[in-house]
Amino acid sequence: MTNKKNIAILGSTGSIGTQTLDVVRSNSSLFNVFMLTAQSSADLLIEQALEFLPNYAVICDHAKYNCVKEGLADAGVKVLSGIEAVIETVTHPDIHTVVTAIVGFAGLEPTIAAIKAGKDIALANKETLVVAGELITALARQHSVKILPVDSEHSAIFQCLVGEDAGAVEKIILTASGGPFRGRSAEFLRNVTREDALKHPNWVMGAKITIDSATLMNKGLEVIEAKWLFNVDAEQVEVIVHPQSIIHSMVQFRDGSIKAQMGLPDMKLPIQYALSYPSRVASNFKRFSFVNYPELTFEKPDPETFRNLALAFSALKTGGNMPCIINAANEIAVAGFLNHELGFLGMSEVIEQCMQQIDFIERPVLDDYLNTDKQTRIFAQNLIKKMPLKGSTVLT
Ligand code: NAD
Ligand code: MG
Repeated sequence: MTNKKNIAILGSTGSIGTQTLDVVRSNSSLFNVFMLTAQSSADLLIEQALEFLPNYAVICDHAKYNCVKEGLADAGVKVLSGIEAVIETVTHPDIHTVVTAIVGFAGLEPTIAAIKAGKDIALANKETLVVAGELITALARQHSVKILPVDSEHSAIFQCLVGEDAGAVEKIILTASGGPFRGRSAEFLRNVTREDALKHPNWVMGAKITIDSATLMNKGLEVIEAKWLFNVDAEQVEVIVHPQSIIHSMVQFRDGSIKAQMGLPDMKLPIQYALSYPSRVASNFKRFSFVNYPELTFEKPDPETFRNLALAFSALKTGGNMPCIINAANEIAVAGFLNHELGFLGMSEVIEQCMQQIDFIERPVLDDYLNTDKQTRIFAQNLIKKMPLKGSTVLT
């Protein structure tokens, strides 16, 4: 036996998943990969499992099971399939930390299972906290589990809070790059294409979060994520656009002092910190130089044009299952936009309609979240079918 930390990576084939493996590769004396999972990228999962030799590899798409099983025939890796297998295996007693790098609502149930089994969570899957923040944070307290943020803004805030008294926080200043359409008008947004929206100026990420960054929904989800991670009210979270993405976020304390966490945009740093916390491990990540960035700039966001940001704030204030509604509506809207079924501005319309039409539940329990999610998805799908494709002549 070694004293390496055993890690399960849920969603190992995605952007966060592969960068987590980069961190493990560079710190192989500290971390051991115990479990890898993917939705359907069988070839990459096989390649990763052959390199890292985890105890388990789970492919969620049952149709890909035989392929993965064959690919890992002589590797000594147990191959399973289905999300149920993820939910079950993530509770294995030898796992210490679970990196939740699945995208969307699908991350909720595996995260709950991991917390109930006492695993620390390196949380990338912000949708879990958006949907069920109250339930997740209560469970984490009950099982003495740490939720360590991977999202760069939340990692920044978390780092600023080390050594501070939680009661001393006056407000959180959440930075946003502004995405590829910063400063643009609604008229301009009407005609943007999927390809325009997928070009993020500072980060290379999965498709869903890249679209969320273009609509500013990502920042809206992050405001809700911050509320649950740091126990603050909506009024205590200020969003500020900082196009260079060097200051990853800030905390202002009650004496007026502000702390910022800075660095070049690279998700490997927050991933590594979540895995090594409370230690800081040496890295060879590219260093930031002030002289190369003589100007760090800041501006107000424009929630009238980027309506998703305002809708997310409103959902947070309403509470109950409203954040679950906006999350499900947004997942369907983003998929619709990526599939050329919906224009850019249509995404906010779908979300707003769902917020108005889906039954509100003030004190939801897990089943309510599951039902709300299902109901909202169906409603949003039907809505998209009925909506005229907004704007874009390119898409017709
Ligand atoms: P991605 O699309 O690149 O990867 C998603 C991973 O989850 C893949 O391994 C995929 O196989 C798996 N997956 C997808 N759907 C699944 C399902 N229904 N069931 C089981 N597995 C499924 O996404 P990403 O950009 O790595 O983002 C992952 C999460 O991290 C998201 O919640 C995102 O908001 C968050 N996040 C990402 C970044 C980033 O830089 N990419 C930054 C901050 C937060
Ligand atoms: Mg972020």
